[in-house]
Amino acid sequence: MSAVLLVLSGCGQDEGTSRTVEMINADGDRIGTVELTEQAEGVRLKLDLEGLPPGEHAIHIHEKGSCQPPDFQSAGGHYNPDGKKHGLLHPEGAHAGDLPNIIVKEDGTVNVELTAPNVTLREGEKGTLLTKDGTSIVIHAKKDDGMTQPAGAAGGRIACGEIKSS
Ligand code: ZN
Repeated sequence: MSAVLLVLSGCGQDEGTSRTVEMINADGDRIGTVELTEQAEGVRLKLDLEGLPPGEHAIHIHEKGSCQPPDFQSAGGHYNPDGKKHGLLHPEGAHAGDLPNIIVKEDGTVNVELTAPNVTLREGEKGTLLTKDGTSIVIHAKKDDGMTQPAGAAGGRIACGEIKSS
């Protein structure tokens, strides 16, 4: 009988790896943070933000680590290393960077936790958020309908934060 090798690389050793992402609005002003933490089930995003328009908004992880106000087009499209369709409701979805909509309270704050199951903070691994040029978190003016290509008809980009490896 041949020996069975169990390869445990990366298993648990960096559980708890985290990054704090500073979010800015279209004026370039800081509006709070998103804390990213590596979990067994993916990357957890803990939002602690203020100064946003109340209501339902799309939030996505985008493919470039560049947040240049006011329109944040520098962030590029959605992070999609698997080449899938956009949308949590799409049968051929979703982008690794797709996330559930958030609800901003009447006072402009949002304090919620989301999980992105198909990404990691481990550098060099498939789905890593710590690519050479980094990635970013973008909040949109409208909600994501979970289906429309390429970005859920979520409208303009109203806040952005860069995810960098160092
Ligand atoms: Zn998407």
